[in-house]
Amino acid sequence: MKSKFQADKNGYYGQFGGAFIPELLYPNVKELEDNYLKIIESESFQKEYKGLLKDYVGRPTPLYLAPRLSEKYGAHIYLKREDLNHTGAHKVNNTIGQILIAKQLGKKRIIAETGAGQHGVATATVCALMNLECVVFMGEIDIKRQAPNVARMKMLGAKVIPATSGSKTLKDATNEAIRDWIGNPDDTYYLIGSVVGPHPYPDMVARLQAVISEEMKWQLKEHTGKENPDTVIACVGGGSNAAGAFYHFLDDSTIELIAVEAAGLGVYSGESAATSQLGDVGVLHGSKTILMQDEYGQVIEPYSISAGLDYPGIGPLHAFLNESNRAKFMNATDQEALDAAYELTKLEGIIPALESAHALAVLSKIDFKKDQVVVVNLSGRGDKDLETYIKHLK
Ligand SMILES: *Cc1c(COP(=O)(O)O)cnc(C)c1O
Repeated sequence: MKSKFQADKNGYYGQFGGAFIPELLYPNVKELEDNYLKIIESESFQKEYKGLLKDYVGRPTPLYLAPRLSEKYGAHIYLKREDLNHTGAHKVNNTIGQILIAKQLGKKRIIAETGAGQHGVATATVCALMNLECVVFMGEIDIKRQAPNVARMKMLGAKVIPATSGSKTLKDATNEAIRDWIGNPDDTYYLIGSVVGPHPYPDMVARLQAVISEEMKWQLKEHTGKENPDTVIACVGGGSNAAGAFYHFLDDSTIELIAVEAAGLGVYSGESAATSQLGDVGVLHGSKTILMQDEYGQVIEPYSISAGLDYPGIGPLHAFLNESNRAKFMNATDQEALDAAYELTKLEGIIPALESAHALAVLSKIDFKKDQVVVVNLSGRGDKDLETYIKHLK
């Protein structure tokens, strides 16, 4: 039987998903939709994808039982170490997969948009690896805010094009990328960085990130004798690391899934990215989901101290997990995330990404049972956030 947490053939999870795109994009999206499952399920794709994940990315990433964190919170707390991937986060699991799909489709040119630059770097990395032309659209303001990632992308050979319209941030970069794709339908592949966008992107990206929970299962079995945890916790920007961490546990409702959004200065402060609390139904980036919008349907600029969670929507799978109560949505403020990052650093000697620190921040808000097995998906490392951490050094 097909899981209700899998996209149906039109890309819907309950009422969320689908493909709301300009007519000019139909051929591109249809080409991908007709081919992505065949490619992903082929033996040759699996061999190359798994080979690169192992030898280039460094998978499997460890599942680490964090002893001092466990002691502090009175549960068995494991960290899934996505921070140890090449380029320092889970994003590369997806870009490796999509670059192989693009090659199979005979594409020669890759476009992407990026907000903080993390997805741009992960895309530029795999384009260098595969010797493909790479064009990254980025809001003019974000280019100024994220200079080190812009430098990385350039060194990797990508062309970074500023989006100068609107608020000059992520949504404007997205518009530029879509415009480019419409203009270059034959040779260009649009590489999206999270479980967002029109069908088939959310399903495709979830499948490519599912390696995270696939590994968790056998790693938990080695550690505990059982392949299922009691609880999985992950942060949600668009939702790709959470989708990967939840994927193989979605159908077993005895496993608690916790999605953590960024509350910024406070959920109701006007400076927040807690979409599930503040958003309602609308269309964002080509799919029906929940997003933060004003009474006229204009997207509200989100805010979070962590650039990767600073997104005005969540992917359609997460909108459905929230609506159906399959996942519990929690949130953490900037300050709570900073405190959690310092705590992990001091207790375990691991500096987490600010995004991942939001997931860690809810540990102090949960009443754990004594032998509860909890996995926190540590989506990335904190090197990119050092400047922010040092400003808040205690
Ligand atoms: C981009 C990013 C995120 C947020 O993206 P998702 O698609 O929600 O996973 C989380 N953590 C890190 C380290 C990131 O770079």
